[in-house]
Parts: sequence; C-alpha cells; structure tokens
Amino acid sequence: MGSAASTASARPSVITSINPATGTPIGEVPEMTAAEVRAAVDLARAAQREWAQLSIEARCRKVLRFAEVLMERAEEMIDLLVREGGKTRLEALGMEVVVVADLVRYFAKHAPELLAPVPLPLHLLKHRASYLHFVPRGVIGIIAPWNFPFSIPIGETMMSLIAGNGVVLKPSEITPFVALKAKELYLAAELPPDLFQVVTGRGSTGAALIDSGVNKIVFTGSVATGRKVGAACGERLIPCTLELGGKAPAVVCADADLDRTAAAITWGGFANSGQVCASVERVYAVDSIHDALVERIVAHTKELRQGDASSSLSDVDVGAMTWDQQVSTVEKLVDAAVASGAKVETGGKRGTGPGQFFQPTVLTSCRQEMDVMRKEIFGPVIPIMRVTDEAEAVRLANDSHLGLLAYVFTRDRERGKRIAERIQAGTVMVNDVLATYGCPETPWGGVKDSGIGRTHSAIGLRDLCETRHVNHDRVALAREVWWYPYKEGTFRTILRGARLLFGKRFWQR
Ligand code: NAD
Repeated sequence: MGSAASTASARPSVITSINPATGTPIGEVPEMTAAEVRAAVDLARAAQREWAQLSIEARCRKVLRFAEVLMERAEEMIDLLVREGGKTRLEALGMEVVVVADLVRYFAKHAPELLAPVPLPLHLLKHRASYLHFVPRGVIGIIAPWNFPFSIPIGETMMSLIAGNGVVLKPSEITPFVALKAKELYLAAELPPDLFQVVTGRGSTGAALIDSGVNKIVFTGSVATGRKVGAACGERLIPCTLELGGKAPAVVCADADLDRTAAAITWGGFANSGQVCASVERVYAVDSIHDALVERIVAHTKELRQGDASSSLSDVDVGAMTWDQQVSTVEKLVDAAVASGAKVETGGKRGTGPGQFFQPTVLTSCRQEMDVMRKEIFGPVIPIMRVTDEAEAVRLANDSHLGLLAYVFTRDRERGKRIAERIQAGTVMVNDVLATYGCPETPWGGVKDSGIGRTHSAIGLRDLCETRHVNHDRVALAREVWWYPYKEGTFRTILRGARLLFGKRFWQR
C-alpha cells in the first residue's frame, strides 16, 4: 500500500494479464494507487446516497436488468473467462455465468422479504415492542481471487447493490479483465455508472481499499492474506467477511453407491482444474470399498481430455491452471507425497508446451501426515487414503486447520446426515460435491481457518446491511417502575416478582 501511495503522482505500473493455456498476453491494466482507490470510493459513495433512497423493490428491478444483459451477452463473458482463467467453456457457463444470473434472479425476487423489518416480541416487557431493520452499510469493498473471477465478486456485488450499497471491487491481478467486462455489462444494464467501481492492482491496491473509508470488506482468498485483511479491518473497526481456503474431505462409507461416488469425486477434484476452494482435496475410503472406488476414479480420470479450451469448443474437460505459481505448488506437493510413499495411479506431472497445465492426478497410499493431505493443493490432484471404518474417516476429516466444505457418501441418507453433523465444516454435502455454491439461498463460508462470516443466503444478504434495532412503547405509561426515585417498597416488589418469575415453581417447592 505504501509504495502505491508514494507513487501517486508518477504513472502507475501496469499488470499484464495472460491466457494461461497459451501464454499469450491478453492486455494490460494499471496498478491503481491509493489516491485512485479513494477517488473511486468517493464516487461510489456519492452515487450510493441516491441509490439507497430507492425502495428495495425498485433496486431489485434495476439489478435484474444485469441478469438479462448477462444472458444476452453470455458468450462474450464465457470467451473471456476461458481466455483469462483457462477454464473450460462448460465451467465458465455453469460455474460462473449461470451462478450469477440465478443469484440475481433469486435475490431480486426474495430480498424485499429477506430484508423486511423483523418483529421481536418481548417476553417480559409486554408493554413495549422491538423490531430489527436492515440499513445499507454504504460502500462495500470486495477483494477477489482469480479462481472464480466472475461468480465470486459479481455475485457479492449484485447482493450488495440490492441491499442498497455502492461497491468498489479489487479483482485479482491475475484476472482483471473479467471484472472490467462485468463493469461493461453493468453499464449496458443502465445501472448508475458510479455506484459500482473496479480498481485494478495487486495486494497494495487491495490494502488501499481497506484503508479508503469503505464500510465493510468482503474478502475471498488465501488464509495468509485473510489474516492480514482481518487485522487491517480490525484496526479500522470495519466488519469483514473472510472466505478463505479449504481442504474438503470426502468420507466414503462402505455402503456408498460407488459409481455415483467415483463420478462425483472425479468431478469434484478436477473441475476448474481443482482450483476450487471446495474441491475434493482428500478422500477417506473405508477398506472394504477402497480398491473398487480407486479403480473407478482412475478409469474416469484417464478419460479426461485436458487442453486449451479457448481454441476448441466444448470438448475439453480439464483446462489450464490460472496462475503459473500454482502449478509449482501442486508439483511440489505431489513430488513430496510420492517421495514419502504415495503411489501415482495416473497423471502426476505438469503438462508440456507453452500453457500452464498439471495432469489430472490420482494418488493412493496417502497418509494423513503427508502435506498433500494437510495443505490446500488447489490443483487437479485427488489423494486417497484407506481407512478402517467411518469413525476413523470422520476423525481424520476433522484433523485439519481448515473447514470449508466436506462430503459424505453413503446409501443411507439418515446415516449420511448423522455423519455430516459430526464433521467440522461450514457446509457438508451428502452424496454430492461443490454444487451449493450455485444455490443462492444456502450460506457459504467456513469454520476454523477457512474464514469468518457467510456469503449468499439471508445471512449473507443481511450482513451487507447494518442490523439496527428499534424499541418502542405499545402502551403509554407515566413511568417505569425501576426509574427514580429508588424506594424500599419498589425493591421488595421487584424482588417478589423476580422470585415468582425466575425461582422454583410453586409446585416444585
Ligand atoms: P490471495 O490471498 O493471494 O489473493 C486474494 C486477493 O487479495 C487478490 O485480489 C490480491 O490482490 C489481494 N491481496 C493480496 N494481498 C493483500 C493485502 N495485503 N490486502 C488486501 N488485499 C490483498 O488468494 P488467491 O491466490 O487469489 O486465491 C486463492 C485462494 O482463495 C485459495 O486459498 C482459495 O481456497 C481461496 N478461495 C476461497 C473461497 C471461499 O469461498 N472460501 C473461494 C475462492 C477462493
């Protein structure tokens, strides 16, 4: 942040975005200075004052237009998501564009009811009443990662706008053009131009955003950066939502439907090249089904076609890895696991050629103490460990500093739910993977080091507002009994009343 601020008058440096599947440059964006970030926040704040005056229904109607424009121009957005993010066309459609379009429609329909005042009847002070109402916070600062450069920040942006806020978005330096394209669609939807701002840059620009007077930060990224963001928000006493890393375990029970389970784990481990905070990052398979499960997962994996989805159409299953350094992280984790006794069933190496690829990889004979079972891989690798029973699987699933998503596979739905409730994670899915990010009514967020707070759902929407409380009289009394002057008689009356209300019931005496 300091360096950006000190070069405020000099021409800022630029960031070059590249196509990770080919290594070809896409374009340059400026690394914006602290002064430029502050100016963007001021513009958003001025526009927000008017925006917040609109009724929530009017705001919903206007934001809905964004979903319409997005669907009209979906291919444009998909092309860019493929070119800048390296993902496949189906992932760009299903995990990015459709997620946002559905989220906008859902909240445009339900936000008036989710943000309606909530009455709080008082159990004791019957002559008074309370209610909660939800007031826009002002300007929300959104700091985003590169793995879902559209659905994460733009979903948050649309919810923030519906809640009556302005937004300043700092996209990842790896994928800035997706955010700029989103702004283009936003303008095409005829939403207030200044209300939503995009500030491009690296970490220093993100830090400048936290320091720019915004009223809340919604951060999605790594645990290490999340700690810094949380500390900076704490200094400024602004609330923050922290959506951080994951290490999702898949617990596979003896009675699991192995065909469905293998297909789910294969997709859950390799979709978006494994660069999903909810990716299946470790599998605990009970002994009796371990070999049959591995056989199926390996067979599926060997069928996957990896490549540059920007040059072919829909026939690529696994795309490029978005960030070059992530390929090295994945390679090191796999090599270390193999050196400690893990077996490569398929894959195991980085791709050859100009692009950033790592082969879809299945590892067996993994042990809990290996880094590949403990650290976030964030790449196309599925490490599998044999366990004696479900109890051991649950114990190992919980033996992690992360707790974002977790998965359980069993044919017995009730047992699945019982196991799910014992796993320490923000969301546990039974017999499925990843999908609830696309369900806007469900909360998203983690326990332990996976973060603080929730996005999506009524909880996430209300968090974008200040929850304010009004308490009012229902009956006009001359005075309250506990007001001045204090008298012995009042003391006795209150004590008698309190004993009656809170002491042993007369039939228990
Ligand atoms: P990152 O932490 O490196 O960067 C995230 C964002 O923070 C970027 O925009 C970056 O420029 C910015 N930033 C860096 N330093 C900053 C600072 N000091 N102050 C403010 N902003 C700063 O993360 P990444 O590599 O872009 O994303 C991958 C990580 O994100 C993975 O760990 C993944 O699990 C996590 N993630 C979590 C979720 C979730 O919902 N929980 C979703 C997607 C990704």
